[in-house]
Amino acid sequence: MDDLVSLCKRRGFIFQSNEIYGGLQGLYDYGPLGVELKNNLKQAWWKSIIYDRDDVEGLDASILTGREVLKHSGHEDTFSDPLVDCRSCKNRFRSDQSADGKCPACGSDDLTEPRPFNLMFKTTVGPVDDGSNYAYLRPETAQQIFTNFKNVLDSTNKSIPFGVAQIGKAFRNEVTPGKFIFRVREFEQMELEFFVEPGQDEEWHKYWVESRYNWWIEQGIDKDRIQKLEVDKSDLSHYSKATVDIMYDFPHGLEELEGIANRTDFDLGSHTKNQEEYSISSSVMKNTKSTTKLGIQNLETKKWFIPYVIEPSAGVDRGVLALLNEAYREENVGENNTRIVLGLKPHLSPIKAAVIPLKRNNEELVNAAKEIKNDLQKLGLGRVILENSGNIGKSYRRHDEIGTPICITVDFETLENKTITIRDRDTMEQKRLDPQELNKFYEKIFD
Ligand code: ATP
Repeated sequence: MDDLVSLCKRRGFIFQSNEIYGGLQGLYDYGPLGVELKNNLKQAWWKSIIYDRDDVEGLDASILTGREVLKHSGHEDTFSDPLVDCRSCKNRFRSDQSADGKCPACGSDDLTEPRPFNLMFKTTVGPVDDGSNYAYLRPETAQQIFTNFKNVLDSTNKSIPFGVAQIGKAFRNEVTPGKFIFRVREFEQMELEFFVEPGQDEEWHKYWVESRYNWWIEQGIDKDRIQKLEVDKSDLSHYSKATVDIMYDFPHGLEELEGIANRTDFDLGSHTKNQEEYSISSSVMKNTKSTTKLGIQNLETKKWFIPYVIEPSAGVDRGVLALLNEAYREENVGENNTRIVLGLKPHLSPIKAAVIPLKRNNEELVNAAKEIKNDLQKLGLGRVILENSGNIGKSYRRHDEIGTPICITVDFETLENKTITIRDRDTMEQKRLDPQELNKFYEKIFD
């Protein structure tokens, strides 16, 4: 983990938030390369969940969420962690962090009884702060998908089974944030709510577990470091009938990367008007003030029903950490010489290609390099940069370390016959290419 944290800071992937004022715990900022990596991961998810299918629509809903929504979702009452105080050293921790009934910081057994600590951040809405006008920063992106269920259904031609997907920030006032970006208080989720007919939910649950597991492997996660874990009934969230967690072997241990839950009709049932008209699960939250029915009519039987929902919910930040961990390697290249390589899959690499003029002060070389950069950039496959630091060796090392798949060097031969040198990140092999071959060669990297 230390190597990763240091690389992230040195090269501009991830910084501690509010650092110049001593830092704020559980918050991180993504730097110039981090934002590219994160965007690439989100794009890959969006593509596989929406563009590559025809049964899912996208949404971008508000972060501030009204109290009624989170009351009927069950979060106001149940979204809490059991908090324990140590009377000796005043440390606060989640009760599951102490297996032996002792404080994990000082070892004292003078501890308070666990008490529920709600993880949601509250804030005032509007100019009057009298304690009643409050809303929450959403603790998951899912709820506004449920409240928009009818809007999406009415404005598209979807019929069941279909899904609504969203990527966005979520906030949890974690008792003990830590392990770098693994557990933070502000993070991003990539969530899909996939609505199905009751009775078909278990089949669809299995389908999404397999699909999501395979997707992570396609992004570059090694099969040996990822596994599926059926969550014990006693550990299920209040809305879940069954959950399978995709666990990844993070640098600090095996932990959840994504959860795939069968949320049944709990959420749509809880938020629907005239609940008594439906046969819904007994566990849904009753007496909603919702103005809208969130059901679907079966066109043959004319009966209305509340769909069940399968929810694959992945953390963007945990995804970034897992992918960085997979990609990081140190290689021996000669005596006392190592190179750090970030072997990211090209579609995830923050920089797709670096174009390097051999001499930084030579206008002709720099202009030729600029032209190549602009041409490649137009292909729209991600960020291409002009690397004009004047030291080829150092530029190669820098781009190995940030995961750039190829470097393109422009030298004096380029000025004569337009050929360029391509250097491969993984093999370090260099070859000369004719200019007309470049676009094809470049596009093939992303096949
Ligand atoms: P954990 O048990 O690790 O706290 P969770 O079961 O509460 O996670 P979910 O509610 O299932 O998490 O949220 C879905 C996903 O959101 C998780 O799989 C994870 O990737 C991400 N996530 C949840 N909490 C955090 C957090 N505090 N920091 C970063 N990512 C998070």
